[in-house]
Amino acid sequence: MPAIPQIDPTSGAAPEVQPSIPLASTNVTPAFDPSKVTVLFILGGPGAGKGTQSIHLVQDYGFKHLSAGDLLREEQDREGSEYGQMIKDYIKDGKIVPMEVTVTLLKNAMQRELDSGKKSRFLIDGFPRKMDQAVFFEQSVCPSKCTIFLDCPEEVMLKRLLNRGKTSGRSDDNEESIKKRFRTFVDTSMPVVDQFEKEDKVIKVLATGSENDVYERLVENLAKRDIHPVK
Ligand code: UDP
Ligand code: MG
Repeated sequence: MPAIPQIDPTSGAAPEVQPSIPLASTNVTPAFDPSKVTVLFILGGPGAGKGTQSIHLVQDYGFKHLSAGDLLREEQDREGSEYGQMIKDYIKDGKIVPMEVTVTLLKNAMQRELDSGKKSRFLIDGFPRKMDQAVFFEQSVCPSKCTIFLDCPEEVMLKRLLNRGKTSGRSDDNEESIKKRFRTFVDTSMPVVDQFEKEDKVIKVLATGSENDVYERLVENLAKRDIHPVK
């Protein structure tokens, strides 16, 4: 895998030199052509059901599913990764890992899939969670077609997460981390959804009730945007 740019693990600041992808402030062309590569984001608070609904979407719509959180956890556990400890600390604390790491992991995963000649439609789960990531990704990797936003009250998400925590083994599925993730979501991630909404690129779906209820709403709303199942 191409090297991830050096990041100072103490400050989380990206270095000035030699990032493996150009920075957003420079005038760059996206790595992938949006007329050939389709990117949908799926966002929502922690426990809103992004992963669960993604499984259905992959089955019916033929997307390649990429979860930013899963990619980060994989990198965290990868032997020899110089970002392992930093990722661990950020995740436990419910904070957003410096974007260069996450964007590079996503870009590499997309490149691998495209090289394999399999899928060119991507469902990117749990990303972008911060404005800088959104801008950087769309400028340097690929502009998104739209964003699915799973809208769910905190008390419902809390219940789901505490339940998941019994078996997930995730370091952040405990009450203290969950509260921090809720804050991060409201303060840092909602502005991204609001910005996409202004661009009329958000498909908002109420994410309470059963898995099937939510999925039915989702299919209905995707159809309104002319996005249909492939089989
Ligand atoms: N995370 C991050 N950047 C991202 C996505 C996730 O730093 O773009 C980190 C963040 O600390 C987050 C954690 O990974 O709280 C777990 O993300 P995941 O999407 O797995 O959580 P979920 O929303 O599914 O509960
Ligand atoms: Mg998830």
